[in-house]
Amino acid sequence: MASPSSSPVSPVVGRGTETSRTLFERASVVIPGGVNSPVRAFTSVGGTPRFMISAAGPWLTDADGNRYVDLISSWGPMILGHAHPAVVDAVRAAAGQGLSFGAPTPAEIELAEEIIRRVAPVEQVRLVNSGTEATMSAIRLARGITGRSVVVKFAGCYHGHVDALLAQAGSGVATLGLPTSPGVTGAQAADTVVVPYNDLDAVRGVFAERGPEIACVITEAAAGNMGAIPPVPGFNAGLREVCHDHGALLVVDEVMTGFRVSPAGWFGIDGVAGDLYTFGKVMSGGLPAAAFGGPAEFMGHLAPAGPVYQAGTLSGNPVAVAAGLATLRTADAATYATLDANAARLGALIGEALDKEGVPHRVQFAANMLSVFFTEDEVRDYAGAQAAATWRFPAFFHALLDGGVYPPPSAYEAWFVSAVLDDDTFAVIEAALPAAAEAAAAAEPR
Ligand SMILES: *Cc1c(COP(=O)(O)O)cnc(C)c1O
Repeated sequence: MASPSSSPVSPVVGRGTETSRTLFERASVVIPGGVNSPVRAFTSVGGTPRFMISAAGPWLTDADGNRYVDLISSWGPMILGHAHPAVVDAVRAAAGQGLSFGAPTPAEIELAEEIIRRVAPVEQVRLVNSGTEATMSAIRLARGITGRSVVVKFAGCYHGHVDALLAQAGSGVATLGLPTSPGVTGAQAADTVVVPYNDLDAVRGVFAERGPEIACVITEAAAGNMGAIPPVPGFNAGLREVCHDHGALLVVDEVMTGFRVSPAGWFGIDGVAGDLYTFGKVMSGGLPAAAFGGPAEFMGHLAPAGPVYQAGTLSGNPVAVAAGLATLRTADAATYATLDANAARLGALIGEALDKEGVPHRVQFAANMLSVFFTEDEVRDYAGAQAAATWRFPAFFHALLDGGVYPPPSAYEAWFVSAVLDDDTFAVIEAALPAAAEAAAAAEPR
């Protein structure tokens, strides 16, 4: 997909990190750890987090004037690349009409209709402000519908920083090596049962023991927060069956996969219908909005139609809704084909470079999300991800950064391509990889 905003530019690196370092010091005084979301702090890879000033197409520009090929896409949302004209125009137009009304708007209906049209099991959606809020609300709804309290989740899956879902969570919790978080009460933790991902027998075992207490199973449609780990064939369908046999709901978290891996998200790939869905990231095009949804039969339990309370001052914000609608409407079949092709091309380049240096690795895909595990074994769960030689990652990461490529600053995060990576940007990636592979080969266990 050609984007008018991805002008032919080359990376500019080597301008140092003095400005970012100064900003990080200043930030650390007034913001805990200097960042507003932990993985941004580079804790597990070391070094100075880059403070970004602007982004266009596939490029990120930091405060020192270094320019990087972006391989995180704001952790997923920016499938069209940065500052896509269609999205920026829609945001400008919406902003000019007023930023927030605290009253319903026509565009909210359009975004809900767009989501429902794509994901067949979803008949109604409620808009919220973050993926965390979406999963928190979906769980409350599942508990309200079933009158039960226990939630089953998978080790290494991340569903936002919801109290009940932080146990053995992926993403930043995995990156920092935390088992859970202080501040989560014993009661909240006691209502959460954690089982290994891709292990249907373990799920069946939990239901055999506590079936009548289980409100729902929540799963990432394909795991992307402990690196990219797709569900093994039959896993999602098996979850659906076990849940339904026991009167529990299956909550499918598509905050990461939704509208990225296909026009209909992971549902478009495996066709397994969940009972409740959560969306975020791509559906709001880089602004803060998210959603949860499902059949009207379930969603009708929400206030004001039903008794399960859920609300939000800024929910359905017109500017965020405009960004989401413009993103979804611009992302056509060609966009998704390009995302798939770009992920395959990136994965192949990484694999070749690591092969050449003899670094044991596995580039693993969940559709067009991918990650690099420093192990030769297939990674099917969190234990597998933790068993990999993650100590190779910081050196690999920094060599790429020095070469003008911005990968996720954690061995436990997926890499996200955009549809505007082109031959120029792939040339930058290809040029940066040999040094990164050498650095990974030379790394020592810490
Ligand atoms: C990012 C993510 C969330 C949390 O979304 P936020 O907007 O960061 O709160 C929830 N679930 C999954 C699968 C995610 O990847």
